Formats: sequence, structure tokens, C-alpha cells
Amino acid sequence: MTSVVLEEIPDRVSLAVDISNCRGNCVGCHSPFLKEDIGEELTPQVIDALVADNFGVNCFLFLGEGRDPQALLALAAHVHALGLEAALYSGREQVEDPFWEAFDYIKLGPYRPECGPLNKPTTNQRLYRIAGGRREDITARFWHRGLEAGR
Ligand code: SF4
Repeated sequence: MTSVVLEEIPDRVSLAVDISNCRGNCVGCHSPFLKEDIGEELTPQVIDALVADNFGVNCFLFLGEGRDPQALLALAAHVHALGLEAALYSGREQVEDPFWEAFDYIKLGPYRPECGPLNKPTTNQRLYRIAGGRREDITARFWHRGLEAGR
């Protein structure tokens, strides 16, 4: 599923795409269908078509990692080649170094219903902005705006 979203990445108009084959195991999983191998394979050509159909977006948001990290990293590079920023919502507690180099935004942490999503100050999840090799935790941006971001 794809959608254009304003809340998930601050100050960006993001084209968000659900990625199936989730490797996560969140106890309160909100999207169990994403653990299956479903949908169309996300290729550079598919991304080209999605971006062409959604003029004005400036960020491509991968909602999940799938099971092929090399393919995901290559897709992030393709997004950059299109002039867009690349964002990743990971359900993991940490990601490997190549991910920090490949994405402009990364959300870490499994979804825990008792902690709430990103827009709850009690959340266990964190959203990082990566710029110039530095990681900045920008999670608090969500707490002042009452947005419904976070998954
Ligand atoms: S990362 Fe998302 S889809 Fe995967 S187990 Fe956690 S909540 Fe479910």
C-alpha cells in the first residue's frame, strides 16, 4: 500500500510504501499482514512510477525493511538518484552502519502498545535525522504538534 503522508517525517512530504516480509516480532504488531510475502516487488522501476504519479513528494519512506538488506540499500540509493530523501521505519532496536549511511531518516524500535507511537512522549521508538554523518534524535518534534504519526 502506498500513501502520501505529511506527519511521519517532519517538514517533508513523504511517499510512504508498506514493505512486506517484516522480520520484526513486535508483541503489539499493528500490521500482521506485513509479515507475509505479499504484494508487488519494489524495484527501481516501480519507485520511478510511484514518484511520477505523486508529483511534489520530496521523501520516500520505506515502512519496513523486508528480508533483503542489500536490495533495500540499493533502493535507497535509487531514491537519492531521483533527488528525494530516503527514510526508513525499522522495527528493530538498531540497524547496521550501512543503513545510517544510506538513509536520511531512520526510525528505530519495535511497536509497543503500552508505550505508544512516536507522538506519545512515553514512546520507546526514536526517529533520527542523519546529516553530515551525524545522527540527531528528533522524536520530540512529534510531541509538540499532536500529530498522529508513528506506527
Ligand atoms: S515492525 Fe511493524 S509489521 Fe513488523 S512486527 Fe513490528 S509492528 Fe508488525
